[in-house]
Amino acid sequence: MNCIICNKKSYNVVWNGKLRNSSNTFTKSNEKIFQCKNCELVFLEKKRKNLEDSSVARKIFNKDNSIKEFIKFHKPREKKKIDKIKRFLDIKEKSILESNCGAGVILDIFKKDAKLTTGVDSKHYKKYLLSKGHKFYCDIYSISSDQKFDIIFSLSELEHKYNPITFLKKLKNLLNRKGRIILRIPNYSNIYKLLAGKYFNKFDFRTSHNFYFSRKNLHLIFKKVGLKVRKEMGYHEYELNHLLKYLKMRGRFRSNYEIIFNKSEEIYINKNIEDSLMSTSLIYFLEK
Ligand SMILES: [Zn+2]
Repeated sequence: MNCIICNKKSYNVVWNGKLRNSSNTFTKSNEKIFQCKNCELVFLEKKRKNLEDSSVARKIFNKDNSIKEFIKFHKPREKKKIDKIKRFLDIKEKSILESNCGAGVILDIFKKDAKLTTGVDSKHYKKYLLSKGHKFYCDIYSISSDQKFDIIFSLSELEHKYNPITFLKKLKNLLNRKGRIILRIPNYSNIYKLLAGKYFNKFDFRTSHNFYFSRKNLHLIFKKVGLKVRKEMGYHEYELNHLLKYLKMRGRFRSNYEIIFNKSEEIYINKNIEDSLMSTSLIYFLEK
């Protein structure tokens, strides 16, 4: 088996144990996770195809996959993420596509300024999206290549893909000549992983992520599919107060955490984490 990004054949086993398969349960048998020695890509030995259907994955990993739950869970998170991204985008009169759009929280934000808003996700969301005035597809591969979009969002999606290269090629294929693809991808080489090591892996590795990317292999995969990096940003989702308790508890916890740093201290610290690109996520602006 060759690495899907760099084609090399030597790996380290970075995990051989039970794998999280819902918000708090683990597989019965052990599973291996490999890391390419060359490009550092991390991937499941047994990749899952069925969890590509986001409504299936959301049903297992979130509370449920209802529209109400989606909006409750995602709206504040998406709003924050989009505020950060929006500063670098001109939405006016643009044709926007969002892959993995769920209940369309982001499409709703852009609806009034954009020329056209189109969502792609499981058919579970179809009726709701159409009722909000968006165009909708259940499968990105069913969109004709004659159709082009100015801005394509794919947030928290690449890591779930069975074949991320085919997927990125399709996004490129749907992009207008001067368009932008915006990706948000969990960053494997983040500060939690650095400080918590195997305790981070225990909770971060899960059946629904086929791949765990980091900067090195992301730059290689973009090059491979012919996309140029226009902008690279860190995006850190938690407070340092949370990280401190996480380290103390050796992993995910449900209780509250002590507030050591106040809001303005947190903002300053998180900015530094994001600037260092050791944040929990990376955001990319790509062009053809
Ligand atoms: Zn590799």
